Amino acid sequence: MDSVTIVGAGVVGYASAAALRAHGYTGRITVVGGERHRPYDRPPLRHGFLTGQTTIGELALESPTEDLDVQWQLGVAAVGLDPATHRVTLANGRTVDADAVVIATGSAARRLGNSPRGVHTLRTVDDALALREELLPGGRMVVVGSGVVGLEVASTARDLGMDVTVIGSTTDALCTAFGRTVADAVHRLHARTGTHVRTDLRVAELIGPGWVSGVRLTTGEEIGADVVLLDIGSVPLVGWLGDSGLDLRGGVVCDEVGATGAPGVVAVGDCAAWLDPVTGQHRRVEHWSDTRNRPGIAMAALLGDPLGGSQRPSRLASQQAGSRVQFAGRFHGGEDLSIEAGGVETGDLLAVYRRGGRPVAVLGIDQPALVKDWQARLVGADASGPGAAAAPRADAATLAVPQA
Ligand SMILES: Cc1cc2nc3c(=O)[nH]c(=O)nc-3n(C[C@H](O)[C@H](O)[C@H](O)COP(=O)(O)OP(=O)(O)OC[C@H]3O[C@@H](n4cnc5c(N)ncnc54)[C@H](O)[C@@H]3O)c2cc1C
Repeated sequence: MDSVTIVGAGVVGYASAAALRAHGYTGRITVVGGERHRPYDRPPLRHGFLTGQTTIGELALESPTEDLDVQWQLGVAAVGLDPATHRVTLANGRTVDADAVVIATGSAARRLGNSPRGVHTLRTVDDALALREELLPGGRMVVVGSGVVGLEVASTARDLGMDVTVIGSTTDALCTAFGRTVADAVHRLHARTGTHVRTDLRVAELIGPGWVSGVRLTTGEEIGADVVLLDIGSVPLVGWLGDSGLDLRGGVVCDEVGATGAPGVVAVGDCAAWLDPVTGQHRRVEHWSDTRNRPGIAMAALLGDPLGGSQRPSRLASQQAGSRVQFAGRFHGGEDLSIEAGGVETGDLLAVYRRGGRPVAVLGIDQPALVKDWQARLVGADASGPGAAAAPRADAATLAVPQA
């Protein structure tokens, strides 16, 4: 194999290039990226970058001394793939040919019907630049959706002196992934700092036209806003693969090492629905921290490297209304939740998730010592392997998450 095209210059595209080099691949690597930026860290977009504490330069994933010898084609999207010839067609009409293709196009934030001005989603550095212009003291912000990103932006806006209302529903990621008890505890943290947290509601529409003036709930109630952030989930960016013949049900469908049905074509990251060997289902895992596992595994598979790699627990850390929320582990669905310390009333808690009686994940609110302790006891916590070691710089990106 002499040439590889990686489509998507996000953390996974970058970690895939690093993993190829770490596996000893010396051929040509071309990375095609729809954004104009070199790969950067997304978690700080929720807080440090919005407040101006983190600069755009500090988001960079590449270290100044690193040279992966990659040909970058940035600011141009791929619009087609021929899986048989591995030819990628770009929006500017050019084509890139290679012996193999890595699909790493990530996901896009879901939107809600019409979009008057003042309505934002937060996915890219350009989204964050546009949003931060409008986070003005005394302004009114509505956050639709109470996921980790929406809630952290809510607390950032509150810190900046805004009047903030969060509209949560039972289908929000915080509730569905971590459970109602944990969601309630996090909501309470925000309520204590003056954020209006309204749960079990749905937004029917954004009130426009022109500049947004608020949101209308399905109950008919209207809530005024100068700025609205939508945090209502994401969709895999696979539209450009529409004519490829690849299985695109719920993302690029892959086996447990990222291989698609087409030889020499793998998919990794938010856009990829890998086979979960525990449940036998294909599903997308939208975790930055998975970048330290999966590119290494997929690149090993692409190179026919028998060493492969192994999956390690995902991690997440977020500042929520002055409290530190940490998660480690891996969900497959249907885990049992128990609160092992603290509780909803005290504000700090430790939740342990078990599958078949064995701990698979842990979430702590202001419980760093207990999280660290439990992290070592999780199923798979001791898993390590050549695949994990194959993306050293991506590991550094993961370690940066707790500071986000
Ligand atoms: C604000 C924010 C905070 C987050 N915080 C955390 C956190 O604390 N912990 C955690 O685990 N996860 C977090 N996540 C999720 C994490 O960032 C994602 O799981 C991760 O970015 C996925 O990486 P990726 O490379 O698959 O996709 P992306 O990072 O989305 O990168 C994909 C890239 O591909 C490009 N692209 C798309 N289509 C095309 C095309 N047709 N042609 C060329 N290029 C294309 C996109 O423009 C993008 O640059 C956060 C996400 C956001 C948005």
